Amino acid sequence: MKKKASDFRYNTGETRVPWPAVGENYNAHDLMEVIKFMMQGQGAEYDAAIDEVAEKVYALDKVSRAPGKLSLDVNVVAAEEACDEYLNTQGSLFVTNATAGFEIAYKYANIDPGDEVIVPAITFIATMAYPISVGAKIVICDVAPNTINMDPEDLKKKLSPKTKMVVPVHIGGYPCNMEEIMKVTKEYNKDIVVLEDAAHAFGAMYKGKRIGTIGDFGSFSFHEVKNVTSFGEGGIVCTNVEEMRPLMPRCRFFGSDFGAKPIDNWFYNVDAMPGKYGPFVALNSSTTEIQAIGLKLQVARNEQIIAERRKNAAYLTERFKANDAIIPQDIGGDDVQPTFHLYLLQIDPAKAGGDVQVLRKKLEAKGVTNLPHFGPLYRFNILKQLGYDVDAMSAACPVANEVFDHRFTHLPLYGIDEEQVQYMADAVLEAVEEMQKGL
Ligand SMILES: *Cc1c(COP(=O)(O)O)cnc(C)c1O
Repeated sequence: MKKKASDFRYNTGETRVPWPAVGENYNAHDLMEVIKFMMQGQGAEYDAAIDEVAEKVYALDKVSRAPGKLSLDVNVVAAEEACDEYLNTQGSLFVTNATAGFEIAYKYANIDPGDEVIVPAITFIATMAYPISVGAKIVICDVAPNTINMDPEDLKKKLSPKTKMVVPVHIGGYPCNMEEIMKVTKEYNKDIVVLEDAAHAFGAMYKGKRIGTIGDFGSFSFHEVKNVTSFGEGGIVCTNVEEMRPLMPRCRFFGSDFGAKPIDNWFYNVDAMPGKYGPFVALNSSTTEIQAIGLKLQVARNEQIIAERRKNAAYLTERFKANDAIIPQDIGGDDVQPTFHLYLLQIDPAKAGGDVQVLRKKLEAKGVTNLPHFGPLYRFNILKQLGYDVDAMSAACPVANEVFDHRFTHLPLYGIDEEQVQYMADAVLEAVEEMQKGL
């Protein structure tokens, strides 16, 4: 059976008086504004090119028609199929963003007040937003110093009878030690749901599997800053929970059911979704056909994109071997293949004669952008405002504090040319040498 992404939204098709799925459709003028937005420029040459395109678009408008649907239709299905093929999954779901994917996983686990969710110290706020929004308790796991990913050893200490979920994050697209994380978690309690925050890791491989497809759920981000984007926002969520797979499209749209028996005198039904421990209410994380076109095309380019990032990362790592105060990014091998979303640059403060804050300033002065992703979660106001003992949380994550304050930053790997990559390598080496000379 051909898969359907659709919500119900009308589109009654050929009738004497149809009820179209789209209200006010766009017109050629709207589309020209989109083209001008997507392809910006100025000057006489640009203006002339735009005029020429406009003429063609208005001509096309006279002989074409608008699509029947703009949301959840054939392109959404095609994008999901492309992701399934790429990830070797079934039933991947294209949602508004990675956070919406997390939400489905959290709801499946019926995360409620009183439950504990373990997340790593170094991650984006999105990882823990849902559980804290429903009053569940966040427990913060320390990170491993070499990867700044969730440390399975510390995870052992943070698991408790109240732990309902564990959420490893593949920071910078570098795979977590999933084997250990799964083992430690499931041996403690096989009912704990593991959600992979794979926002940075679309296409990463770990021991022959795609990252994001190893835990019970995995969610990827296609926000504009990530490796590939569905025109600004988007996410894919996939699951190994077999009974949830066919229900995922309904988790994206209020649990509405257009296939089963409708209520009398109406054309669909709505169900609470079956969570692990009880029903939950699905919200709306529908995506558009235009986003789907972007995703489908970019997924097809992802291997090339990763290869280019990898080349730059390998170059930096090779150059950084020249100074043993620099701890270069591990570029992986057969078992671990990162996406190189970010380049993890670390230094040994004792050998460098100063910490990464000094290095960061020097790099900035040399015009090299560097951004450590991310500050430890307990340092943001939000957990304190919610009544957490953030000092105790911080004390329980010594490595996260040490690496963030003293050891790491991230460098860009994409959208920069060879000369810029070389300049970046030179600048880092120079800056560390200056530090070593006490300059
Ligand atoms: C970007 C990001 C997210 C959120 O992704 P969205 O698609 O914006 O919801 C989650 N986790 C990490 C680590 C991220 O960097």
